[in-house]
Amino acid sequence: MLKRTEGIVLRNRPHGDADLIVTYLTSDSGIRSLYARSPRKVGSRFGGSLEPLTYARISFVGKEQARLPRLIQSDIIRPFNTLREDMDSFVRVSEALELTVRLIPEGEPSGRAFRLLLEVLSSLEHTPRNTLLLSFYKVRLLDLTGFAPRVGGCARCGAETERFYPGEGATLCRGCGEGAGGFIELHPSVKRLYSYLLRTGPSTINRLRLTDAVYTGLEGLISSHIGHTVVERLNTREFAEVLRTC
Ligand SMILES: [Zn+2]
Repeated sequence: MLKRTEGIVLRNRPHGDADLIVTYLTSDSGIRSLYARSPRKVGSRFGGSLEPLTYARISFVGKEQARLPRLIQSDIIRPFNTLREDMDSFVRVSEALELTVRLIPEGEPSGRAFRLLLEVLSSLEHTPRNTLLLSFYKVRLLDLTGFAPRVGGCARCGAETERFYPGEGATLCRGCGEGAGGFIELHPSVKRLYSYLLRTGPSTINRLRLTDAVYTGLEGLISSHIGHTVVERLNTREFAEVLRTC
């Protein structure tokens, strides 16, 4: 079976001496891991098209349920190479890509996630230092995949509260949060920003002016939620820490 689609490279892993396993977010079949033969050899037909973030038109072959279909063609539509050139921005983007791999089940169509990632990368290419675009991406990806934290009134009784309990993935009042573990206090502007991100588009993000405290509060909410309910630790965060200590 030959299949053609479009995809964005989320990551690639060496396989043997010269081969790669390339993981894509595709436009029509969700996450796909494909086996690429000899892309690391000089003169490979794949050229630089298997680098993370590359948006490409791809063809692959394999039986319907094959674990690793084989990539046979990859033509770059948009390389997004500027996002790979700056190490800081690449580490931040990689963290978002890693989250994508973890949240979207392999082979389950997710056209909305694909369009979201493409829109965010396009905006980020114009303003690579705008880290709020990546916060926006994470919030929307969590929402699309059903993992979004419940932020608002108390998730159990509806009372007003500023306490977010990462262990519960929700805001709870003091009484309902009894025994629910640690919590973080959310400033009302962080709650407002969070609900705004859930309904706006990436083009409005560049117009937002935030104080450092609000941005840090939002990031604290997102990362504590991801850390507790989605994964213990993202590999790329460990990678970022390794870089920091170099
Ligand atoms: Zn309550």
